[in-house]
Amino acid sequence: MRRLFTEESEALLFKTLNYIPIPILLSEGLEVEGRRPSTHRVHHFMNHAFIEQLGYNINDIPDIAAWFDTVYPDPIIRNKAMLEWDNVVYASEKQGLSTAGFKTYIRCGNGEFRWFLITAQLTTENQSNLNIVTMRDVHQLQLLIEENERQSNTDLLTGLANRRRVEEVLAIAMKQSNLAHSSLCLVMCDIDFFKDINDNFGHLCGDDVLKIVAVQLQESAKSAASIARWGGEEFLIVLDNTEPESAALLCEHLREQIEQTDYRSYGQLMHFTMSFGCVKYQPDESLHSLLSRVDKALYKAKNNGRNNVVMA
Ligand code: GH3
Ligand code: MG
Ligand code: MG
Repeated sequence: MRRLFTEESEALLFKTLNYIPIPILLSEGLEVEGRRPSTHRVHHFMNHAFIEQLGYNINDIPDIAAWFDTVYPDPIIRNKAMLEWDNVVYASEKQGLSTAGFKTYIRCGNGEFRWFLITAQLTTENQSNLNIVTMRDVHQLQLLIEENERQSNTDLLTGLANRRRVEEVLAIAMKQSNLAHSSLCLVMCDIDFFKDINDNFGHLCGDDVLKIVAVQLQESAKSAASIARWGGEEFLIVLDNTEPESAALLCEHLREQIEQTDYRSYGQLMHFTMSFGCVKYQPDESLHSLLSRVDKALYKAKNNGRNNVVMA
């Protein structure tokens, strides 16, 4: 293989890189018809940390094609990763940055998949074709980020989306509805006389009821953009691309289903009903106005004697 530097310089460089505990790969871009396509790269060197942490040596992945084939065994994911990498490099070059980086989920030599943050030096002073690629193992960090994100978006008791998450989904759905002129409906529903369930059967039974209702809502409103626990025994259902007629049918179906369900918890048999308010989003309406209108619709359903659906 062509030398990058003089023999002594190269030996010194490789020796030094072997002391660094971060996986490092030296890769060279080959010229093809005056261009250096990202698909034509040979690997010159991997430091000890690379071989240890990724579990591959230079014979396993001698060039970039072998890299993509090896670390992304699924061809669809591989193509996506190649495209993403190309885009990242292009965007970094366009901004005049000297490095490009992206986080990616790759297969290591032992068959385990892990998250790595890959950073490539795009330009080096005296070796324009040489790229220094570092790969930092961010697997534990990534799992913590994902878990933290999941927890911050989820209601602990029911596992449904929480208030924060449903507001985010609603904002996106409202934008989409404005752009595509599509119908967006919002449902707010609340268990009738839930306080009596707590008072008569205890809070643990009350908690169980909330969990069972959450499952019922999820099973019956599978196409909803979000089903969330809005507050104590109050839920929100975001129905994007849904006309009010279909939303009304869904509410009526849920109302009947809940009325007819035998709820069992801690040896107790319970029956209750639920009230529903439903509104159609008006173009360019604010989130505050939409929530206020659906809240009023639910309030009306309660005033109408509960166990009914109010479309407003
Ligand atoms: P309405 O038909 O008007 O909705 O009457 P309600 O009794 O359902 O409503 P109210 O607001 O008077 O009472 C709601 C109760 O819900 C009071 C509160 O203690 C209870 N609650 C709120 N969050 C939870 C929870 O996480 N678990 C349990 N078990 N109860 C909860
Ligand atoms: Mg209630
Ligand atoms: Mg309530």
